[in-house]
Amino acid sequence: MPSSIIRGKHVVTKITGPSTAEVIEDGAVFQRDGEIVEVGPYSELSRRHHPDEIIGSSDHVVIPGLVNAHHHVGLTPFQLGALDAPLETWIIARWAMRDVDPYLDTLYCAMQMIESGITTVMHNHMASRLPPGVELFDAASQIVDAYEESGMRVAFSLSDRDQNHLVYEDDERFLATLPSDLAADARRQINARPITLEDYLTANAELLGRKSTDRTRIFISPHNVHWCSDEMLRAISDFARRNSTGLHIHLHETIYQKMYGARHWNKTPLAHLQELGVLGPEVSCAHGVWLTEYDIDIMAETGTALCHNPSSNLRLQSGVAPLNPLLDRGVTVALGIDEAGINDDNDILQEMRVAQKIHREPGVASPAPTSHDIFHMATVNGAKVTFFDKQVGTLEPGKRADIVLIDTRRINEPYLNPNTDIVDALVYRGKGLDVDTVIVDGEVLLRNKVFQRFDKAAVIARFKESLSQPLSERELNRGALSRRILPHIQNWFETWPLEAGEPHYTYNLAE
Ligand SMILES: [Zn+2]
Repeated sequence: MPSSIIRGKHVVTKITGPSTAEVIEDGAVFQRDGEIVEVGPYSELSRRHHPDEIIGSSDHVVIPGLVNAHHHVGLTPFQLGALDAPLETWIIARWAMRDVDPYLDTLYCAMQMIESGITTVMHNHMASRLPPGVELFDAASQIVDAYEESGMRVAFSLSDRDQNHLVYEDDERFLATLPSDLAADARRQINARPITLEDYLTANAELLGRKSTDRTRIFISPHNVHWCSDEMLRAISDFARRNSTGLHIHLHETIYQKMYGARHWNKTPLAHLQELGVLGPEVSCAHGVWLTEYDIDIMAETGTALCHNPSSNLRLQSGVAPLNPLLDRGVTVALGIDEAGINDDNDILQEMRVAQKIHREPGVASPAPTSHDIFHMATVNGAKVTFFDKQVGTLEPGKRADIVLIDTRRINEPYLNPNTDIVDALVYRGKGLDVDTVIVDGEVLLRNKVFQRFDKAAVIARFKESLSQPLSERELNRGALSRRILPHIQNWFETWPLEAGEPHYTYNLAE
């Protein structure tokens, strides 16, 4: 692999504190065979090394590749017809979405992510949503293969569940409340791809053995605490420990999930996981909107990490996660878009901005995350939760060259105070469209906004063609079933009086 010098007006190598970063002005990175050899002033590096090429200019800022630490699918649910709604009804409304080719969907989305500066993603895929009639391993492999084709790093996990498929109670108890024809159709739907725990673990072992590479990690994922039996949670946790791999789980996303814990275990779902011995540094949880103070202590003590998804939490009416106390207590927090970015795209620079703005508590002495806190979440902490922290997250000798060049011209136009900190400038004003060049492992994946491994237009044309087929009978029936069952789901949750309590943040008062 060739060597290169990647240069910029500013090279942000790493965050060093809540408001500080190591930035080399007129700096450069020299990489050989994908490994960062030296970081320093461009004038010195260009004198000392004779690389195959020089990438960048004095209009660029050079940063470590960004990490999207929670992601599921390419075409967004909105693109597929599902409006934002509370999670509990939204997941049933999603049955009406058409099936999408997993390979093309992933490749399309990887392009979108690369274009916004994402070089590593935590991809979490629901096993039950993979096309039926194909072995679980083969179906999941299509997604991993698409990432391999794209050149991105991925921590891939297949998520599964074995209970409470419709509402937050036993399936048969809920089905018994429905008209019998509706109950029969719903039962068929939740068993559309029957997967035993053994099948699931076997597919994961196979993925781990056959699909792990330098750029691909295979994780395992119980979908959420209330969606998995204790037996399943223990078996998955055992699997992660035996194979020294990561465990990714949705957690406390909605108030109903927190209340489920009180009803079933008389404790929060996180405390239940702790009791089962599931938590630890290999565990990352998505959302965590409804974490209590005690939960935050548990996370800090056990080294369990959180993947924060601010736009998704807003869109699905989940609430605002307690980021300020999490950061205060030293919990590792990474940032994920959950394919529900504020602009319905996968622009991580804009997600960083949402994350920075949504936690600004009223009051002159109140906490608010800094640009540097957010940048740290999207780089170092993202690398940590995806288990790539030895390779990426900072620009330092010995690390792999995952590097993004951002064009600062639009950000600075027509004027930006020259004293502005570059990390502030990126988090306040950067957008995916400013990303110019993206490098993974020293390999240029996107050069001057042009993909190097494939023709973007051709991939999109293939994807469009695959989506031009009329809906199958199976898809039409699933949509009709979703519309029939939704009022029953809504009614069931309406019987839960929402818990009241002391909020982490005070945004406003009614009296
Ligand atoms: Zn999610």
